Amino acid sequence: MSIDKNDVILEIKDLKKHFAPHQSLAQTLTGKNRKVVKAVDGISFAIRRGEIFGLIGESGSGKTTTGKLVMKLIDPTSGTIEFNGEDVTKTDKERTKAYRRQVQMIFQDPYASMNPRFKIKDVLEEPLIIHKIPGGHVEHEEMIVKALTEVKLNPPEEFMGRYPHMLSGGQRQRVATARTLILNPLMLVADEPVSMIDLSTRAEILHMMKDVQRDLGLTYLYITHDLSTARYFTDRIAVMYLGRIVEMGDADDVIDHPLHPYTKALIDAVPEPETGKVDVIKELPISGEIPSPANIPPGCRFHTRCPYAKPECSAEAEPELIDVGNGHYQACRRYKEI
Ligand code: SF4
Repeated sequence: MSIDKNDVILEIKDLKKHFAPHQSLAQTLTGKNRKVVKAVDGISFAIRRGEIFGLIGESGSGKTTTGKLVMKLIDPTSGTIEFNGEDVTKTDKERTKAYRRQVQMIFQDPYASMNPRFKIKDVLEEPLIIHKIPGGHVEHEEMIVKALTEVKLNPPEEFMGRYPHMLSGGQRQRVATARTLILNPLMLVADEPVSMIDLSTRAEILHMMKDVQRDLGLTYLYITHDLSTARYFTDRIAVMYLGRIVEMGDADDVIDHPLHPYTKALIDAVPEPETGKVDVIKELPISGEIPSPANIPPGCRFHTRCPYAKPECSAEAEPELIDVGNGHYQACRRYKEI
């Protein structure tokens, strides 16, 4: 099931971000080069308009770097980013600013992204001023009231006069969401938006974000290490391992019928609902730590931890992501045998 080009809002093609390591004078003089860190190493995916697309992986998988590339906070080493049919990989300052108005980011720690001396009204007016949104004080206040109402902080007038420290973690994440909505974006990039919020409030915040997405017809790129929220929240997911996508497809299909051994390990690590524990990736039922992106294993990059690895997995070329039907892609050459 291929995606109709007209439905696509964001298309990433063979995107790479390699960081050149800092060289000390001694290393330069001795000619000992440190290895390049391949944080994102050739990923491709397309997100449909109005879709919630999840990027899943443990720390070091490259998912957060991918989010920064999409937000144009860092430049890619190679590859392209197309938004609404326009190549935005390399844009001048003005076009980047216009792009960032259409594609907004929700951060993991809403408190860190707010000036603690600003009242909530000022926190929300700041992007209107930065982006020179026309209107005086009265018009801006109307926009602020509307945005706070959209994230269900009622009555909005009461919250406008508070400072960030007077709000709960969940309320602060609602304000952070309202601050993105005030610019009428087309897409939100949400990097672990509920990981710093009380367990009891996480579902409520995701529910609110889903309502907003549906009501306003937004598209989300949802970045998380947490497969259990991804299942509830996303339409499709891509599972990342060491800078590459190893499996991708409809969220239900990938989670109910995982094909790649890494995805299977992630799913096996999801706790029983009664324990309420959602920090799943710290206890993967596979051996060892994720290797360093400066030292990627040859062949299939998962072979050092894969319980099904055979000698050919490290000896042969890296397996490509292939479509096995119904838009379900996976990158294990032995997937039929396991
Ligand atoms: Fe495991 Fe080999 Fe498949 Fe890689 S190709 S996931 S090492 S079985």
